[in-house]
Amino acid sequence: MSVPELPILDDHMHLSPDGKGVEAVKEFERAGGTHLVVIHKPADGLPPTTVGGHRGLMEQTITLAEEAEQVTDVETYVSLGPHPAEFTKSLDGDRDIDEAAEAYQAGLEAAEDLLSRDRVVALGEIGRPHYEVPDDVWETANEMFREGLQIAAENDVAAILHTEPGDRETFAQWAEWAEEAGLDRSRVVKHFSPPIVDEDDNHGLVPSIIASEDNLEAALEDDDRFMMETDYLDDPSRPGAVLGPKLVPRRTHQLYEAGLIDDESWRRIHVEVPRQAYGIQTDA
Ligand SMILES: [Zn+2]
Repeated sequence: MSVPELPILDDHMHLSPDGKGVEAVKEFERAGGTHLVVIHKPADGLPPTTVGGHRGLMEQTITLAEEAEQVTDVETYVSLGPHPAEFTKSLDGDRDIDEAAEAYQAGLEAAEDLLSRDRVVALGEIGRPHYEVPDDVWETANEMFREGLQIAAENDVAAILHTEPGDRETFAQWAEWAEEAGLDRSRVVKHFSPPIVDEDDNHGLVPSIIASEDNLEAALEDDDRFMMETDYLDDPSRPGAVLGPKLVPRRTHQLYEAGLIDDESWRRIHVEVPRQAYGIQTDA
């Protein structure tokens, strides 16, 4: 059975100058991938404390995405932001909570400076730690999470959330926060989302679902309003830690061949939902 020539977007891939970099994008393309959201990867070690320090690293992410587009036919988009784990990394590195928050906010400011650059479509991943932290850390992380939503709204870009997996209640809370920030819910992408795809359950946020068979099949039992991602880390020291760059195209083909998606659901996942979230045109 042949599959249609429709766009295939991986909604969450990291690229690193120390990893496979553009080679990973070539693998993605060979498997049938056509569009890619490249998510800024936090630096190893202590996060920068200055806006300039963060900006330098974020500019590398933009450069990698540009290079990938030069050597492949894949169209790349970029999301920039300080990863929520950077806040707790600062604390582990003996910065106090105010210093850690300042370093994190410098990251938000750096991202904001770059949101108007070509191909930058989102602020993220932002959010809060997915592991347990002390109450004061949790509160501060949540404040900065909401600050991030506001920055996305003010700059008219999407927000990509890194959080605990979440459930109906947390989705409701994030949707409320987005509303208060003035950010449309259809522009709030929940990275590493559980298969909560029914809009009554996710309150209009956009699930970005890891391309494992179980997750996708569970999602498709309810609806096709979601995107697919690998969360490829491009980290040579953790090759097995995540899914490889070929997986979103492969799974898309498998789902089609198994009759679990038709042309219409395919377009919903890889064209319509991304268009609503990021304002991008993957079928142009
Ligand atoms: Zn990620």
